[in-house]
Amino acid sequence: MIDVSNLTKVYGPVRAVDDLSFRVKPGIVTGFLGPNGAGKSTTMRMILGLDAPTVGTATINGRRYRELPRPLATVGALLDAKSVHPNRSAANHLRWLAQSNGIPTSRVGEVLELVGLSDVAGKKAGGFSLGMGQRLGLAGALLGDPEVLILDEPVNGLDPEGIRWVRGLLRALAAEGRTVLVSSHLLSEMAQTADNLIVIGRGRLVAETSVAEFIREHSAVTTRVRTPDVDKLGAALTAAGIAFTKSGDGLEIPDRPTEEIGALAFNAGVMLTELSGAKASLEDAYMRTTQDSVQYTGQKEIR
Ligand code: ADP
Repeated sequence: MIDVSNLTKVYGPVRAVDDLSFRVKPGIVTGFLGPNGAGKSTTMRMILGLDAPTVGTATINGRRYRELPRPLATVGALLDAKSVHPNRSAANHLRWLAQSNGIPTSRVGEVLELVGLSDVAGKKAGGFSLGMGQRLGLAGALLGDPEVLILDEPVNGLDPEGIRWVRGLLRALAAEGRTVLVSSHLLSEMAQTADNLIVIGRGRLVAETSVAEFIREHSAVTTRVRTPDVDKLGAALTAAGIAFTKSGDGLEIPDRPTEEIGALAFNAGVMLTELSGAKASLEDAYMRTTQDSVQYTGQKEIR
């Protein structure tokens, strides 16, 4: 269990994390989702005691990281896959990590096997691809057989096969009753991996919900109509308190189903030449809910 309470981190003028509270439960994969710069890494670093919060607390199984008697046996973390000495072999890196944390070195072979690096155990980590580096980072995270895993963008740099593998591993670890918190800036990735989502934008909590619920809530339909009587339909929509946008001989009505708009037009005596519904993609919905948080969104397509 991870408990984050009123966590805030201020860097000069930037509120990287802003009064964030959430709970990460065991037995499921929890996705920590937000655009780049939203504050995910900073939050994870505070949970792991690598950054001091400006305000608030973060605990793992009820204790702050620095109060944990055997940290690696409680929580395994993957933050920056490049934090391995380039001249050390994969096995030596893990042996050193095990020895300095009171973990039997026999565990090294097990975790190398688990992440599929047994064949390159003796090779220098400096020559590893990004994907192999991620696997080595995961091996380090799993070394202490921890109850809690905190992984920052673990599929970064992995090929599709590697991504599938990480997904399966995370689900298996959660199924064993562990607490798994995994960050990503991609909703599509999290939708396939996580059970629950903690969504943040500009350091603040946007949603704390199940993946299924998030998808249901944010799969809004936009209804499009064309009519020779745009003004009359517009007046009827306004009278009903329904917002819309005009485009040529058509109207776009967000978050309203086609049935409702069709019935409204019929009752207003307006002929429609076209009535269609378009489901916003989940990625669009995610961008919309976090859009306050992105400083530069590029050109936005109106659908
Ligand atoms: P994410 O992991 O979601 O991409 P980060 O936690 O890395 O986001 O960053 C959140 C915000 O905090 C960003 O605006 C980033 O520039 C800022 N930030 C992060 N670390 C530092 C730091 N050490 N000094 C100053 N600003 C930082």
